[in-house]
Amino acid sequence: MHEVSIVEALIEQVEGEVARAGAAGKVTRLSLSIGRLSGVQPDSIRFAFELLSPGTLVENAALEIEEPPAVCVCAGCGARTELDDFCLECPSCGSRDISIQGGREMLLQTIDLDEE
Ligand SMILES: [Zn+2]
Repeated sequence: MHEVSIVEALIEQVEGEVARAGAAGKVTRLSLSIGRLSGVQPDSIRFAFELLSPGTLVENAALEIEEPPAVCVCAGCGARTELDDFCLECPSCGSRDISIQGGREMLLQTIDLDEE
């Protein structure tokens, strides 16, 4: 499962960030941004997280996932349309002179630590 390797990498990243910051304590909350066009399913991420987090620094941490939409920007009419899926033409005017911005990211945004 693709999501398992994503979450493995995520946990490594969190452990690396926490170690670099010299912080102690447990991670209480993580927030992620997973774009709607990233092809990554937030539910699968949650499932993989529950599977992999026990015994790591992020065990019992709350996982918050934001799902930002992509935006279709049309060079023809200037419309900016939020997308949940890929599109090939402008939903407003049908022009194919468009660019799609965002929606493909998969980012670790914040790590909250319970420092004692
Ligand atoms: Zn347009």
